[in-house]
Amino acid sequence: MVLTAFERRRPLRHQHESKFRRVSRNLVFAGLAAATVNLLERPVVQPLAGLVERRRLGILYAWELPRALHVTLAVVLLDYTLYVWHVLVHRVPWLWRFHLVHHVDLDLDASTALRFHFGELAVSIPWRAAQIVAIGVTADALTLWQNALLVSILFHHSNVELPVGVERVIARVFVTPRMHGIHHSIVPDETSSNWSSGLTLWDRLHGTLRLNVPQRDVIVGVPAYLDPEDVTLKKSIELPFGAQREWRLLAGNGEPGEHEQRRPAGELEA
Ligand SMILES: [Zn+2]
Repeated sequence: MVLTAFERRRPLRHQHESKFRRVSRNLVFAGLAAATVNLLERPVVQPLAGLVERRRLGILYAWELPRALHVTLAVVLLDYTLYVWHVLVHRVPWLWRFHLVHHVDLDLDASTALRFHFGELAVSIPWRAAQIVAIGVTADALTLWQNALLVSILFHHSNVELPVGVERVIARVFVTPRMHGIHHSIVPDETSSNWSSGLTLWDRLHGTLRLNVPQRDVIVGVPAYLDPEDVTLKKSIELPFGAQREWRLLAGNGEPGEHEQRRPAGELEA
């Protein structure tokens, strides 16, 4: 609610589609996503975290860590393994079919944070289960991470224009709206950057941090799906299951040109 009010008062990017249509569509995705999480994911991951705790499974149980440290490290490692998962959903073609639905949104705001195809949430359950068991994620660490992640994704998808100086400071630690806006650019090389969902540390470590694209230059979406007719609710829901377009190519067949780089990749542009 607070974010939505700020998005209206200080919009970061110019919006292209009708706000009402887009947000209604994204809320349908949010409803289906919530149902998938409640019916399929929660019954698997919650008991699994309990089992991890009882049997002391996972790397973090290799040490006798104080509870608070164990929970903190579990949240940090969940954030890192989500970075890896995000790269996978872009790189593995059948996973990209589902994540594509999140990226074809033609504008970016807090409602995009909830626009995930229910199939993407369903296929991520085995990965989530593996994260929990491999890391040693306890039930309280899982809940803490899920809540922090929700706040983070609502924030970095939002269309709020923060003063660039403030955003530069936040981006040293956490993913920000301008930073994630670059990941949603139609330029493929820009999409292949800023994979982090919480801490920016992972993009820094992997050399995938890219901050030098001004938001006014960013066109949000996927090159092959820029016509609003391509992203109606029905077409978006069916998207993973039908014939796939060469997503990098515009209707005219070329790839979108790269933006000129003014500053070093790691310095945030207004
Ligand atoms: Zn993505």
